[in-house]
Amino acid sequence: LEERTHQAQRMESLGKLAGGIAHDFNNILAIIVNYTEFAIEESESNPGVRADLTHVRTAADRAMGLTRQLLTFTRGDTVQPQDVDLNLALAEVRDMLERTIGEHITLVARPAPAPVVVRADPGQLQQILLNLAINARDAMPDGGSLVLEAGTAELDGDEVKMQPALPAGRYARLQISDTGEGMPPEVVQRIFEPFFTTKPRGRGTGLGLSTVYGIVTEAGGALNVYSEPGVGTTFRIYLPLAAVTGEAAVAARPAAPPPGD
Ligand code: ADP
Repeated sequence: LEERTHQAQRMESLGKLAGGIAHDFNNILAIIVNYTEFAIEESESNPGVRADLTHVRTAADRAMGLTRQLLTFTRGDTVQPQDVDLNLALAEVRDMLERTIGEHITLVARPAPAPVVVRADPGQLQQILLNLAINARDAMPDGGSLVLEAGTAELDGDEVKMQPALPAGRYARLQISDTGEGMPPEVVQRIFEPFFTTKPRGRGTGLGLSTVYGIVTEAGGALNVYSEPGVGTTFRIYLPLAAVTGEAAVAARPAAPPPGD
């Protein structure tokens, strides 16, 4: 347990460091983007220079996207938690995820039989699913299947490999499984570290899973991962259930259109 606490603290300070760097970088990148814009406008008479500058702007835009992603979990003020039914959240991202993973990978969504309501920022939930789906896609270059499952689970406080440890109780559970290449234990150990990646330069940033980790733990949840080389990987995300139950949970669904509409 001490080992795990130590690990969690290390992760937290790494996260803060990364957040600080991201913030400064974002400001610097904004300056680069701005001046590149000016330069592009002024380079009308020189198509070669203009093309080069356009590449600079595209790269800087990408970099800003990354720093912004990193900032989403270090700057809590933009987070707007609300009651979200995981079944609905899954249904809403389905199209986006299908487009992300491509036609060679089959997406299977298994909603829970009843609404599973958590208190979370819907945008952040999408971000989690998107990051996990991108990793699953990269792990299945020759195709396979990605299974998304919503449900609840009873935790007894002694779950293996849970990061961080959660008090015993009933939780919402989101499970994401792929039939990809899997990971050896020495990779699994490091996947939540900011900037850890095994992907080639330019493909991986190493920020996907640290973002997921940050969002989940900020929301009072935890996650674990099971992976076997050559077989696949399963991520399980546990989130506190919202206080609403029964009829109130049903009210968390979008209102039916008014009659006659
Ligand atoms: P990135 O995707 O930019 O590398 P992540 O933090 O999202 O950064 O992932 C870190 C590493 O974890 C990846 O480089 C990969 O080695 C491993 N990984 C994550 N998800 C999977 C998966 N579903 N299957 C196999 N390996 C994975």
